[in-house]
Amino acid sequence: MAKRKKGSDNGDPRNFDSICDFCGRSIPENGKGDNLLIPSPTGMLICIECVKICKQIVDDIDRETAARNHRNFVEGAMEVPPPAAIREFLDQYIIGHSEIKKMLAVAVHNHYRRLSQEKSSQNKAFADVEIEKSNILLIGPTGCGKTLFAKTLAKLLNVPFAIADATTITEAGYVGEDVENILLYLLQAADMNVQKAQRGIVYIDEIDKIGRRTENVSITRDVSGEGVQQALLKILEGTIAHVPPQGGRKHPQQEMIAIDTRDILFICGGAFVGLEEMVNRRRGRSAIGYGGNADEGQSAAVDPESGALKVAPEDLVKFGLIPEFIGRLPVIATMKDLSEEDLVRILTEPKNCLVRQYQKLLDMDKVKLVFTPDAVREIARQAIKRKTGARGLRSVMESFMMGIMYDNGGNTTPKEVTITDELVRKCANEKLS
Ligand code: ADP
Repeated sequence: MAKRKKGSDNGDPRNFDSICDFCGRSIPENGKGDNLLIPSPTGMLICIECVKICKQIVDDIDRETAARNHRNFVEGAMEVPPPAAIREFLDQYIIGHSEIKKMLAVAVHNHYRRLSQEKSSQNKAFADVEIEKSNILLIGPTGCGKTLFAKTLAKLLNVPFAIADATTITEAGYVGEDVENILLYLLQAADMNVQKAQRGIVYIDEIDKIGRRTENVSITRDVSGEGVQQALLKILEGTIAHVPPQGGRKHPQQEMIAIDTRDILFICGGAFVGLEEMVNRRRGRSAIGYGGNADEGQSAAVDPESGALKVAPEDLVKFGLIPEFIGRLPVIATMKDLSEEDLVRILTEPKNCLVRQYQKLLDMDKVKLVFTPDAVREIARQAIKRKTGARGLRSVMESFMMGIMYDNGGNTTPKEVTITDELVRKCANEKLS
């Protein structure tokens, strides 16, 4: 470590202290903690106090940049992340579905690109060209990550996000929620800031349950489901909707908040059970099970490379969606069941994966929680049995973690607890039986 001479130069080493090259403070030799001096490769020294001040400056700059980006984005001037960056972000939170990630990255990039272009249409040649928005339809089994996709995209773009359930929406005059209430959730997520809400993302779940087929619908609302689709149509394509700030049914005396839905990205999702059969019928082949293998059982409805269902708008019409409604969802992505391998990765890889969550919880009670690789695989296998996709992972884990957390809550001396595949099997089976 470089030293600076202090006091008179009489050759006495005690006259040499280490001095911070930034603030000039002299620091005792071999200082520790707050008295540490960090050397640079060129022999300069910086003290901890100065490092802290620099960190504060960098943090302030980061905060300002984030706030400016958000402001610009809300005002439509932000550089929208390129599709590759969107995909990279999705990879941090979502396992598998690589084709869908690409597709959604492009759709979302284009959507927000369109908004920033609208505000600054510099190129006269395209001044009259209006880019239509690309609402998205996600088709996939329960628990495969449809909601997670929508939520993660909103997180990346730092826009308000709301989830709605299509089965609770009804046509005016029936028991249930008005379509506008969906926008109220978004407005609430935007702290009632209309401008912010108008750039948000809404995920509408169970969209397959509002098909025209009578067996899909509840008797408390319109018998066809078509009325709900008609009501949704308007907000999906872009309209000025009038939202009652208190929610509930609209009534004439109520004051309303006007929201322009033109720039809101709608992502609709549903399991569409039985759709594969319809795709197969259209393709003139018999259905032989999703994910199988052609001459050895692969369904004709499934793309052999990506494993995705080859859905055409006409299949969705047969399923009960009206053509105008399908027309408002130009991006259609089909997701397949998560494999055992995917579930193992979901348990251990994402930033806030379940294994790490439980380990953190128990760490607070001085318990080191260890999962054997076989235990992790067994959790995935047990979840597959439950047929609820990745959602089953939590209930399998709860089946054995409940006891462990009960026994170890408040533990004060450090210890280790190992989860084995036998324990997982035993507890999961007990819960199922
Ligand atoms: P869906 O909307 O398709 O029914 P969700 O997105 O609600 O399913 O998934 C339920 C939970 O399962 C999520 O909160 C997430 O923790 C987990 N999950 C589902 N799919 C994935 C995935 N592909 N990668 C990581 N986690 C996932």
